Amino acid sequence: MQFYSTKDKNLSLTFKEAVLQGIATDGGLFMPSKIPSFRKGFLQSLPEMTFQEIAFEIAGLFTGSEIPKSDLQLIVEDAFNFLVIVKSLSGSLAVVELFHGPTLAFKDFGARFTSRVMSYFLRGDSREVTILVATSGDTGSAVANGFYNMPGIKVVLLYPSGKVSNIQEHQLTTIGGNVTALEVEGTFDDCQRLVKEAFMDKDLKGVLNLSSANSINFARLLPQSFYYVYAYSRLKPVNNEIIFSVPSGNLGNLTAGLIASEMGLPVKRFIGAVNSNSVLSDYIRSGKLEVRQSVRTISNAMDVGNPSNMARIFDLYGNSYEAIKKVIFSTSISDERTKNAILEAYEKYSYVIDPHGAVAYEALKEYTGQGVSAVAAILETAHPAKFPEVIEGALNVKVEAPERLMQAMKKKKESVKIGSRYNDFKSFLKGS
Ligand SMILES: *Cc1c(COP(=O)(O)O)cnc(C)c1O
Repeated sequence: MQFYSTKDKNLSLTFKEAVLQGIATDGGLFMPSKIPSFRKGFLQSLPEMTFQEIAFEIAGLFTGSEIPKSDLQLIVEDAFNFLVIVKSLSGSLAVVELFHGPTLAFKDFGARFTSRVMSYFLRGDSREVTILVATSGDTGSAVANGFYNMPGIKVVLLYPSGKVSNIQEHQLTTIGGNVTALEVEGTFDDCQRLVKEAFMDKDLKGVLNLSSANSINFARLLPQSFYYVYAYSRLKPVNNEIIFSVPSGNLGNLTAGLIASEMGLPVKRFIGAVNSNSVLSDYIRSGKLEVRQSVRTISNAMDVGNPSNMARIFDLYGNSYEAIKKVIFSTSISDERTKNAILEAYEKYSYVIDPHGAVAYEALKEYTGQGVSAVAAILETAHPAKFPEVIEGALNVKVEAPERLMQAMKKKKESVKIGSRYNDFKSFLKGS
């Protein structure tokens, strides 16, 4: 499969090149030259297939002959060694729990797949690769865990100082080994900007072999399409159509769903559920894209003011506002409503939902309140134990933390503080 840049359709890179480069040199994002279609009969055979089998088959459509099938099988089995749990809350409402991986957030899917694919492509290569990751909370630990102590790879995480939760910060700063955590005096958007600048810096190219494992990397995006297909197959919607409500920030998760539907998954509507960072919902309402500074919310992994995957969404639908509006419903949910949603999900369904899933829960309610009825699935992107203050504040119940989270909390934080000016970051990179 060949890939082009959203800023240059004439570009043609292989899957390997697109993954190792991460982002195009013109600042555009890589997109496959053509979205492949599921084979005939694929949807019918899904109920008998495991998550790994589904993953293997879809991944193969993109990797083609670049990764022999036997190697791809090993990559998929190693990457997805944890469960996706689809839980029905009522006859027409389900949650898709995507947090059963090592760092308790859905980002493990993309991160574990990407790290294994990259390390596969780098086998026998003597150059060391530095992976840059800007994180609003969960990406960093997922990516760092994915790459932990992989030979020939260094990981530099950038996170906004004071803007991630205590637990997230522990997960980010206690990994050690080949992973360095940079604590940036600024916002997530600053972190993202620093990474983008580093990639466009010709001066750095001679010194470092940079790559990215952010949601801008296509290998991060691809595995996120697998669980839409899996969830659909487990829920077996009667009219063959399903609604997905997706807690959204940088829009990688949503874009992966859109790609699944372009491949042939029958989806009635995607709900791009956003918090007060309402760039997407404002766009869907007005047709105008206005990026801005991010604001802090209790669903902080979605505090994004300039969602990078918007470029891919425009690309998928040929820049047509009408077409985008048809597939995506979007609404912005305040912190107040998010807390109410946490309480309601608990009272109505005895389900403890995390603040990100709660945004999706509330957005879905707003959508179905308009008289839409269909099977709906909320993507639950993080384990509620990652946000004890919010959950305990809303519910007065204690959330049980899984063992792997307790382990990270016991270790000592190690980070390097830097300012948000590019030159600070560059000096750090050159000296590292
Ligand atoms: C990153 C993240 C999101 C947002 O996903 P995007 O792909 O950036 O839109 C939602 N929930 C959680 C828990 C996250 O970590």
